[in-house]
Amino acid sequence: MRIIELMKIKRPFVSLEFFPPKDQALWPRFFETVEKLKTVNPLFVSVTCGALGSGQEYTKEITIRLKKDFKLEVMAHLTCINSSSDKLHSLLKALLEAGVDNVLALRGDLPQDKTFDYKEGEFKHASDLISFLRKYYPQFGIAVASYPEGHPESLSLEEDLKFLKLKLDRGADFAITQLFFDNNIYWKFLEKARNIGIDKPIIPGILPVTNLKTLERILSQCGASIPEQLSKDLHIAHEKGGAEAVKALGTEYATMQIKELLNGGVPGVHIFTLNMASTCLNIFRTLNLI
Ligand SMILES: Cc1cc2nc3c(=O)[nH]c(=O)nc-3n(C[C@H](O)[C@H](O)[C@H](O)COP(=O)(O)OP(=O)(O)OC[C@H]3O[C@@H](n4cnc5c(N)ncnc54)[C@H](O)[C@@H]3O)c2cc1C
Repeated sequence: MRIIELMKIKRPFVSLEFFPPKDQALWPRFFETVEKLKTVNPLFVSVTCGALGSGQEYTKEITIRLKKDFKLEVMAHLTCINSSSDKLHSLLKALLEAGVDNVLALRGDLPQDKTFDYKEGEFKHASDLISFLRKYYPQFGIAVASYPEGHPESLSLEEDLKFLKLKLDRGADFAITQLFFDNNIYWKFLEKARNIGIDKPIIPGILPVTNLKTLERILSQCGASIPEQLSKDLHIAHEKGGAEAVKALGTEYATMQIKELLNGGVPGVHIFTLNMASTCLNIFRTLNLI
């Protein structure tokens, strides 16, 4: 079923994002994590793909298994800059045949070593992928990425919002945000989006911090900011109590963020789980969402 239809039935909801482990020997453990997190009754789960579409086969396989074996509503992440319409047709047909109804349509990050010029490719932006999907696969539910602090390449938040509107106008059903740690950034972004006529859902994406190194890597890649006080508190927690103290603070902070967003009336929250069951379960228990 298309996720946008499910959103009309269940509100508020949680959704969960997983990444496919690169080493297949780790898949049984990954499926145990999914089994545990299934208890939170997510509206849908999404499965990331690697940069430039690498590992798209694993994304496909895991997405299909989560649908068939775990009976979860699923959404496969799909990047387009390094792809061709032939490649996309074969992937999308396989997803449809397996009963997958939803994709997250992405451009994907540019290669850091500039190995190719994406402007030469068949698909330059996520909006091109959405036009392709709507032309050949109108039955798919489509989500897109959005950036409350602006995409790192964009000249301004206003310009980036114009392109978000284009993606939604071309037929995407809803957007999921990049992570943010200050809910005010999300509320202001939502207001700006509504002011330019975006009326589709913009679901906040929340990252529970579990590890300082992972956090630094993610922040350097996605360009999101962290409030100075939270950064200080995480470092103090690390000095005093090590990894466990960081995880405890990250869990508490994400719980506070989610509670405030739900109280503020968001339709649901999307959790970047990093495949960590215990952190997510602690959050959902505290919020009485299990
Ligand atoms: C929730 C979420 C999940 C993600 N999952 C993955 C994943 O699984 N795998 C992965 O590799 N990456 C993932 N990403 C990261 C994403 O691929 C990168 O942020 C990428 O750099 C941009 O993708 P996009 O779909 O937002 O691109 P676009 O919407 O194409 O935007 C990219 C840039 O181009 C600008 N732009 C857009 N349209 C136009 C246009 N028509 N003309 C000129 N400029 C334009 C935008 O303002 C922006 O600066 C995810 C991001 C989010 C928020």
